Amino acid sequence: MSGDLDNPIDGKTATIVGLGNIGSQLAGHIGRLPEIGRVICVDADVYAAGNLATQEISQRDVGVAKARVVARRLRGIRAELKVSAIVERVENVPWGRLRADVICGCVDSKAARAAINLIARRLGVAYVDAGIRADGLLARVDVYAADPESPCIECAWGQKDYESLGQAYSCAGQVREAPSSRASSALGGLAAAIQAIECQKLLAANGQNSVAGRQIVIEAACQHQYVNILRLNPACRFDHRAWPIQKVSAATLGELVAAGAAIMGEAPAAMSVEGRSWVTRLACPGCGEQAAVLRLQGRIDQRLGRCPWCGGARQPIGFNLLPRLDLATARPPCLKKPLTRFGLRAGDVVKLSGVTRQQGLELTREPAERRG
Ligand SMILES: [Zn+2]
Ligand SMILES: [Zn+2]
Repeated sequence: MSGDLDNPIDGKTATIVGLGNIGSQLAGHIGRLPEIGRVICVDADVYAAGNLATQEISQRDVGVAKARVVARRLRGIRAELKVSAIVERVENVPWGRLRADVICGCVDSKAARAAINLIARRLGVAYVDAGIRADGLLARVDVYAADPESPCIECAWGQKDYESLGQAYSCAGQVREAPSSRASSALGGLAAAIQAIECQKLLAANGQNSVAGRQIVIEAACQHQYVNILRLNPACRFDHRAWPIQKVSAATLGELVAAGAAIMGEAPAAMSVEGRSWVTRLACPGCGEQAAVLRLQGRIDQRLGRCPWCGGARQPIGFNLLPRLDLATARPPCLKKPLTRFGLRAGDVVKLSGVTRQQGLELTREPAERRG
């Protein structure tokens, strides 16, 4: 277990989610902070030629995964920095791979913000969110502590925000692209600089809440700066809780259930992965073929996703999504199945629910997956 994501050799860890206008500029600032020993770069996209106008990249980066480009640049800045690149939507990344001292969000959709808010709280990690808006030349940075008694990003959300959140998801549960903000690289750089400064203050305060719970807004069009106090909303739809998460090594569903039972002191009745459902049916829009599956949403691999009859891309049927798997009725053949067959991966956090208690279990790396 030496030098893995959970045990940085020295220094603190920052996870940067979203490597567009703000994130591509933030990465350099974060990588240069003396407190930082590890940076985890997360973005599912590839840089396009159009990004040259607003993002911290060069010609040779066009066509390359954003996370890989930024990781390479960070290694060039400080050789001793430990850097990892995750080319995936944050919603799909096993939570254990995102664990850090601070998560920096540089995303452009509410759905992605809600996902980061959830992950940061459950893992007990502070979250610094940045955003920009071209009209009014607005740069905004919110600082959220990990403490359940402190405000979260959803505390300020109303009915309209949740409605727009619903529209951000397609029925397959994928997050739809947000329109480009058309903001200049200078505005993104302004937000990135404030975000990095607030991160450094948080890290220096060692998790103390004194610097959190603030929103900094610069309205560059009229040179105004505002500092808003973020307030805890008792009616917030999100429960704010950090979970007790215990690491377990399990290869099959049966081993996971047994490990959970030993920790919980009762037989778990259901298994869920928060924020995602279980896909039980795939349909091909091309030829209408359907197939029964049992896979975590977002983890349909190429083999499963391809229609064997016409080669079309099979989609999950929204009606057949299950929020949790019933373990009480699971039969022995099902319990013998490897967890990978359900779409679960190392670092995933599953929630087991019994009659009296719930337990978060993080899957550690399996021997079969241990490569380099
Ligand atoms: Zn809240
Ligand atoms: Zn087909």
